[in-house]
Amino acid sequence: MKVLVVGGAGYIGSHMVRQLDARGHEVVVLDNLSTGFREAVTAGRLVVGEMSDRSLVKDILRSHQIDTVMHFAACALVGESVVDPAKYYQNNVQATIDLLESMRATNVRRMVFSSTCATYGVPTTVPISESTPQQPVNPYGFTKLVIEKALEDYAHAYDFGYAALRYFNAAGASADGRIGEDHDPESHLIPIVLQVALGQREHVTIFGDDWDTPDGTCVRDYIHVDDLGTAHLAAASRLEPGKALEVNLGTGRGFSVRQIIETCREVTGHPIPAVTGERRPGDPPELVADPTLARELLGWVPVHRNPRSIIETAWKWHQANPSGYQKINATSGEQS
Ligand code: UDP
Repeated sequence: MKVLVVGGAGYIGSHMVRQLDARGHEVVVLDNLSTGFREAVTAGRLVVGEMSDRSLVKDILRSHQIDTVMHFAACALVGESVVDPAKYYQNNVQATIDLLESMRATNVRRMVFSSTCATYGVPTTVPISESTPQQPVNPYGFTKLVIEKALEDYAHAYDFGYAALRYFNAAGASADGRIGEDHDPESHLIPIVLQVALGQREHVTIFGDDWDTPDGTCVRDYIHVDDLGTAHLAAASRLEPGKALEVNLGTGRGFSVRQIIETCREVTGHPIPAVTGERRPGDPPELVADPTLARELLGWVPVHRNPRSIIETAWKWHQANPSGYQKINATSGEQS
């Protein structure tokens, strides 16, 4: 494949780029470096720019003879989407429609789209299958659902072939420790807990221990970032004009916040103090995937089946890069 990875300097996109390159695919990355890092792009060609820039995107699609677009570029913080929804509608909806229009204008009709379990909102049943009603409870989830619907319509009307992959909780880092997870500010559980182990925070705050779950803390389905990558490859190889693949990506196993902290203690050998705080607004108590369809449709089964092996890869990255990536100001241009 000749793949344009939009958002390829970000956490999940950068791991995808490495996998695509390792399997011999040609890769061009488009990223505005608003949250991504130049250093995270370890293969392919990086173009710094906006996916909403139609003349730029059409030029990339044509000049590199791109056949497939993998779209990771999005704002993805639930809390921020509630206080600043305009940013989410602008970046996640409007700019993605621009991207789709650039694809349509250049006859590139294959897309793998990063969707999310947040499109299900507070699920009526757990584990969550693809037939669970999609009723997002925050602007982030809603913007992702809007694009899923747009893709359905583009598939029907314009013969796009697409996959909407609904991630559960992406976690971990590349096995060689070269790239990993770095957000500023960090809000995700595993990196925060590992920052405590590194001595960068005094404790982790557990967002509520009075939920209706076995130990009172929220339960999530943690999926390794490289397992997400293999699912994208499997989905890309099955894209057909006019056809939709809408699939959950998780392990099917849920772990509580307390279980994650305990596993981090085991992996790091650090006591990792934890205090209980308020519930975080918008948190559903339990999000666990039913991974059956991913296995049936994509032949995909995650390699990392438990949090320990996921956390081991994350710990390797955090130990080697305690300050994350060096921050370099975004500048326009193209580099090899
Ligand atoms: N969480 C927590 N303390 C933190 C960060 C997260 O207790 O400092 C909890 C959060 O409430 C959720 C789980 O950890 O139940 C995973 O949160 P994260 O932000 O990593 O991912 P999300 O599930 O929101 O996508």
